[in-house]
Amino acid sequence: MTDVVLKVEHLTKRYPVKKGVFGRTGAYVHALEDVSFEVHRGETFAIVGESGCGKSTTGKCVLRLTEPTEGTVTLDGEDFTSLKGEDLTRARQKMKLIFQDPYSSLNPRMTVADIIAEPIDIAGTYKTRAERDARVEQIMKAVGLDLAYKYRYPHEFSGGQRQRIGIARAIVLKPEVVVCDEPVSALDVSVQAKVINLLEELQEEFGLSYIFISHDLSVVKHISDTVMVMYLGHTMELASKEELFDNPLHPYTKALLDVIPRIRHERIQDKKILEGDVPSPTNPPQGCVFHTRCPQCMRVCGERAPEMHEVTPGHRCACHLFDEGLSAEERQPVMAAALAEAEAALSGAQ
Ligand code: SF4
Repeated sequence: MTDVVLKVEHLTKRYPVKKGVFGRTGAYVHALEDVSFEVHRGETFAIVGESGCGKSTTGKCVLRLTEPTEGTVTLDGEDFTSLKGEDLTRARQKMKLIFQDPYSSLNPRMTVADIIAEPIDIAGTYKTRAERDARVEQIMKAVGLDLAYKYRYPHEFSGGQRQRIGIARAIVLKPEVVVCDEPVSALDVSVQAKVINLLEELQEEFGLSYIFISHDLSVVKHISDTVMVMYLGHTMELASKEELFDNPLHPYTKALLDVIPRIRHERIQDKKILEGDVPSPTNPPQGCVFHTRCPQCMRVCGERAPEMHEVTPGHRCACHLFDEGLSAEERQPVMAAALAEAEAALSGAQ
């Protein structure tokens, strides 16, 4: 495996909820709890989960668009979370964001050339206007934008072309890590594939590392190298793409895969459909946060949060099914099928 470009450790974000006329903090929204992962140079690290699972908050905390409550982000060996002032501005050039919505993320009063040049103008990267314009044209070509459109405005472009402008703006400063927050979910299906292919080409050409945030497992299966599954602000499972799709371990991951039509037919034998709603992040369940919806819930699940277990090398899962130290009582009430499945996975891991 290549070297680590980004290391996230114990990232936590809690938003205070103000109550009453004096605005006292009455509770907290637990948006992110103790999330840790590494992104290797040149890889696409996908974060998946339902709406509200904390995947976008993870991206924002990594970029420090919102300050994490706890935890550290190390970028290229430097503690990004402790940087301030000019040091933070300099480090931010190494990490950029592609927004979800290509319609609202571009300034309607700026030309395409000025939108793409904005980051290099702020950073003062080029001394002459000619150098700056040459860089803009180079990036426009790289993302497949016609140079004749240089002085046009965002409203004159289609959704796919606008997302190309957003991508050009994100990579013009030659970043090392790009956080792609649902970059194709606002686009027509026919355009999605073209933008995904473009992201792959740019990764190859410029050696980019992506954090790819998506709720669409079909897209993630296509583009990712490593996948982290999140639920209610917690990491449920983390593995290589092949491991996660071929051998999912966590009951939540299995349920997510079972509702994807193109993947479901491969796993129709043991299909499990999730019931109930995602609990409120203001009052998350005790123990395993997934226990209120888990078809394999055991007695211990509502009492104690599971730790992350490395079930096979590189394949980590936060679930008591893989906790070998549980007593018979803690395993109750346990469905025979769940126990058999966990034991089969454990014996396969040994
Ligand atoms: Fe289900 Fe328990 Fe595993 Fe949570 S810890 S996913 S409730 S079996």
